[in-house]
Amino acid sequence: NGLPMCGVPWHALDGYLARLIRSGHSAAICDQVEDPRTVKGKNIVRREVTRIVTPGTVTEDGLLDECTNTYIAATHSNALALLDLSTGEFSCEAFADAAALEDAILRISPAERIVSAEFANAAAAENSMPATCVDAWTFSYDAAHEELLRHFKVLALDGFGLEGSACAGMVCAAGALLYHVGTTLHHNISHIRRIVKRESAGMLAIDAGTVRHLALLPVEGLRRDATLFAILNATKTPMGARTLANRIRQPLCDAAAISARLDEVETFTRNRFSLTRLQSLLGGVRDIERLIAKVDSMRANARDLKALAQSLKPVPEVIEELAAVQCSSAGLAAEKELVDLLESAIAENPNVLLTEGNLIAPGYNGELDEWRGIAQNAHQWVANYQAAEIERTGIKTLKVRRNNVFGFYIEISKAAAKDAPPNYERRQTLTGAERFTTPELREYERKVLSAQERINALEQDLFKDLLAKTAAHALSIQSTAIRLGEIDATLALADRALAAGYVRPIIDESDVPDILDGRHPIIEQLPDAEPFVPNSASLDCVRNQIMLITGPNMAGKSTYLRQVATLAVMAQMGSFVPAASMRLGVLDRIFTRIGAGDDFSRGRSTFLVEMQETANILNNATPKSLIVLDEIGRGTSTFDGISIAWSVAEYLALHAQTKAKTLFATHYHELTALADKFDCVTNWTCKVKEDGERLVFLRRVVPGVAERSFGIHVGAMAGLPESVVKRAFQILENLESSKLNVTDPARAVKKRLSDIPGQMTLFD
Ligand code: ADP
Ligand code: MG
Repeated sequence: NGLPMCGVPWHALDGYLARLIRSGHSAAICDQVEDPRTVKGKNIVRREVTRIVTPGTVTEDGLLDECTNTYIAATHSNALALLDLSTGEFSCEAFADAAALEDAILRISPAERIVSAEFANAAAAENSMPATCVDAWTFSYDAAHEELLRHFKVLALDGFGLEGSACAGMVCAAGALLYHVGTTLHHNISHIRRIVKRESAGMLAIDAGTVRHLALLPVEGLRRDATLFAILNATKTPMGARTLANRIRQPLCDAAAISARLDEVETFTRNRFSLTRLQSLLGGVRDIERLIAKVDSMRANARDLKALAQSLKPVPEVIEELAAVQCSSAGLAAEKELVDLLESAIAENPNVLLTEGNLIAPGYNGELDEWRGIAQNAHQWVANYQAAEIERTGIKTLKVRRNNVFGFYIEISKAAAKDAPPNYERRQTLTGAERFTTPELREYERKVLSAQERINALEQDLFKDLLAKTAAHALSIQSTAIRLGEIDATLALADRALAAGYVRPIIDESDVPDILDGRHPIIEQLPDAEPFVPNSASLDCVRNQIMLITGPNMAGKSTYLRQVATLAVMAQMGSFVPAASMRLGVLDRIFTRIGAGDDFSRGRSTFLVEMQETANILNNATPKSLIVLDEIGRGTSTFDGISIAWSVAEYLALHAQTKAKTLFATHYHELTALADKFDCVTNWTCKVKEDGERLVFLRRVVPGVAERSFGIHVGAMAGLPESVVKRAFQILENLESSKLNVTDPARAVKKRLSDIPGQMTLFD
């Protein structure tokens, strides 16, 4: 019913597909499924939809970003199944509740999501990413379970840890996802060889908002280069880049596991020679993970096999170099025989299309070489035949030629055509010439054609055999790819640590983040930024639980907050950190809440979201959590805002189960009174120097309270007209003479800033 349809030249498919997919469409690809030569007699070659490409099931190299996984996701009763069709990575995870699931989805941001049609409305109402609805039965436990058994050719899912009622949600999501991609969308899924059950329990939980606020990974609307990923990404391979991104997205929270990663990084910060050597070895390694997935699903061409062989070639040297620094090479397999086989078998510059020939190198197969000899001799034969015919007929202009329509023919100019011998059969008349054929020529043509056909068929057989031989190593090549990715990511971290002067953090079970002279890894690298001023931070659950930071706009509050949280993420992902030293008791979660005024990029009802997120923090934080609250309450009127900020801080200070380490930046000076009321709250300020109406930002975070907010000074520095600045100082003076007092409950309630024109309260 009106589905748009068009034909495209096969060689231009990728370009058209890219445009369709990028603009959010899906495309069904129809192709001939029979060899036209074998369907003589019938008049139409059978065509079928061979696969349906959707945003989440793209496998074309040109459409994929090397540094990120492209996932299609299925969700079902708080469980998530994820598939990267381009690598065959398939995993599932069960979450405690719907909110945790939604958060994981936001963080992972799959390209596409499917849900059971049954829950279509619920999914739409959740206001998270859009979902494609599929038949509900595919999500039923029996159908999904059966699908997984069939695909993995197993009798039960115990081997994957997926039997039992606790795994039901994961099984439903995973089975439905596999069915959708394999059967509904017709993709080849034979390269999906296992499913991994994930558990975020052992991971540091960072919510999607935090990934964004701290600019950890490239996300829409953020500058790509100003992210932690961009700063740390000195990887050489796509596997390494993806591993690094995943480490950032999901840091660890087990001190021993973190230290093991740090040990590996330190190995290479201490052995620059090995670092450089390994990085240069990895420099020639292509995307093995995607290449082997292509081989395994029979989508690979001869160039892919060649690239795979070239990429595996340095592995023995990598193993050797790792051994030299006592670093484990478990998981790496050299595949020497396979590499030798592929190198001797694939032609020097093979064609991309299987049917175009020139796939197999000379010397690999005797029969192939023989047929090729015959085909290549055609040139010589034609020359001989032409000479003989000129001799016989005496026609000097006679030429023997070949084209795709007529095959071999003899061409004689119009003038000489009347002298053609009787055994010449006329085939075609041109303006200046006549074309003929002879029985001999036809006979020879048959021979050459059959040689060509033999060559093509033989090449394809040999190539398929090579694919199968390579696919037999798929599992071990896959694990080599994954391990190379890990090594590459580790090398990148060591590389960056050396280049940017990072130190190894001490990770333990203590109560502190204790940072001496920390720096913000992104800001310090920004081109044309002012020299970065390092700052220390000490937090614990007793006397330094809540750092309340005041200071004028632009003083550096937000930078400081993000810096502390970013360093915690870096430490727990197993990276060195930009600081003179750092000690960290492992955190279980990092929460950040950036006041609505600072977070216009989201485009949601910002104040409501701010409050939802604040609620989430208060409900879920533990003493092992780190909370970053930047200007909360700013999205509403001043008095509402102060009141909310005050009571939030009070709640965090008073409740034992949420006594989380907290950095609290605010421009509400009234809050500094909290330090007098609570021992665990300390006041800090970003130091400034007043120079007449100008301010000099010193960027030092020091104990104490900002004298005033200096907003008008900043206005003056920004070039507001002098009369406006003067008037603003006057108005400020008037307002300050009727200063409010939050510690006196009665006055705080009575006086509303909504009395002042231009201010709005939440319900206005
Ligand atoms: P605030 O949140 O107090 O308004 P920001 O943290 O947004 O201030 O910082 C304002 C600017 O100052 C930022 O653009 C940042 O580049 C710069 N800055 C902040 N802290 C430092 C520092 N420690 N050293 C150098 N520049 C800094
Ligand atoms: Mg700020």
